[in-house]
Amino acid sequence: MNKLTIKDLDIQGKRVLMRVDFNVPVKDGVVGDDTRIVAALPSINYVLKNSGSLVLMSHCGRPKGEKNMEFTLKPAADRLAELVDAKVTLAPDVIGDEVKGLVDGLQAGEILVLENVRFYKEEEGKGCTAEEQDAFAKELASYGDIYVSDAFGTAHRAHASMAVVTKYIDQCAAGFLLEKEIEYLGKVLESPERPFVAIIGGAKISGKIDVVTSLMEKCDTILIGGGMAYTFFKAQGLTVGDSLLEEDKVELAGDILKLAEVKGVNLLLPVDNLVADSFSAEANIWVSEGDIKEGLMGLDIGPETIKLFCSEVAKAKTVVWNGPMGCFELEPFSKGTYSVCQAVADSDSVSIIGGGDSVAAVKQSGLAEKMSHVSTGGGASLEFMEGKPLPGIVALTDA
Ligand code: AMP
Repeated sequence: MNKLTIKDLDIQGKRVLMRVDFNVPVKDGVVGDDTRIVAALPSINYVLKNSGSLVLMSHCGRPKGEKNMEFTLKPAADRLAELVDAKVTLAPDVIGDEVKGLVDGLQAGEILVLENVRFYKEEEGKGCTAEEQDAFAKELASYGDIYVSDAFGTAHRAHASMAVVTKYIDQCAAGFLLEKEIEYLGKVLESPERPFVAIIGGAKISGKIDVVTSLMEKCDTILIGGGMAYTFFKAQGLTVGDSLLEEDKVELAGDILKLAEVKGVNLLLPVDNLVADSFSAEANIWVSEGDIKEGLMGLDIGPETIKLFCSEVAKAKTVVWNGPMGCFELEPFSKGTYSVCQAVADSDSVSIIGGGDSVAAVKQSGLAEKMSHVSTGGGASLEFMEGKPLPGIVALTDA
């Protein structure tokens, strides 16, 4: 870790501007899953314990640059107030005189939560000039003596509250959560214990093709499941019926298969699939090997594939998993994902789970505690693994 971390900072009496990820699901004004809020607590409590005050910034949902109270951070602020032993105030806005007044009145040990930073188009920088984005970031920066980022989930975005605000504050450090993400993901990329097995699944190849290609340089084995497997099937000359298929990626999938051979990477595709006559829990289901017949669609890996993938995972010393093995939201097609999940939990490996759906599967199966690291960022963890510099990390002060 070559960046300042929260522990390097002198916090006493300082106002800490902290970017957190409170992008939580909300129903009827109440937070449904508070995992992301809980994940930020170590950094928040550290500041409070060290006699600092906190101005928290986050986005929530997609208000698209407009003040739309459907996306207010009130539910998140209310939940935070229940979790910390401190006064928590929600600001009525992100910037402006009223907010400034609240920031100025903030005492040590108190928290001010700004409204959703995406109420302003300047946050994402879409539909505004670079100068306007800079001015917005400068105003945010005026709220803090020092800056901490604990929002790994958006670290791959060059947004104002992540990667521009840092231009106007001298000391910008990683919080505990961000530090942990960088440490785990960094270790896996730099010096993974072998065998190193990557499990890649989910609906589409397009979002994951780059990570498969870059993992090819590092992994011993790559297991491919989920809807994306069928584009590889097609590249091998198999028919896929009505399964998910990205025609424009078939050639690329073929290139990846060839590259795996050249590199000596053990790239495994499903040897059998659960196929169904409709995308529904009530569908008729068969186990199919090889070609998938017209009118049928592959919705999960089959029993032989489960055995094959789980035996590879059992041998692993490092596992990276991103994307479900099938439509696990529908019970009849959830076995592949949950079996792989169990195998990862049972394995004697450093295991890193990234991506919304694989994280959801791990949590639903109650196995999260058995994983070495459950990443808080799907897209961010993929880009990190591709070896891309993440703007929200690059922007922090070098140690
Ligand atoms: P992603 O966001 O690319 O990781 O995709 C996750 C989604 O892929 C989940 O909602 C799964 O239901 C879906 N998925 C996984 N396998 C399949 C499949 N064989 N056919 C259609 N959708 C799938």
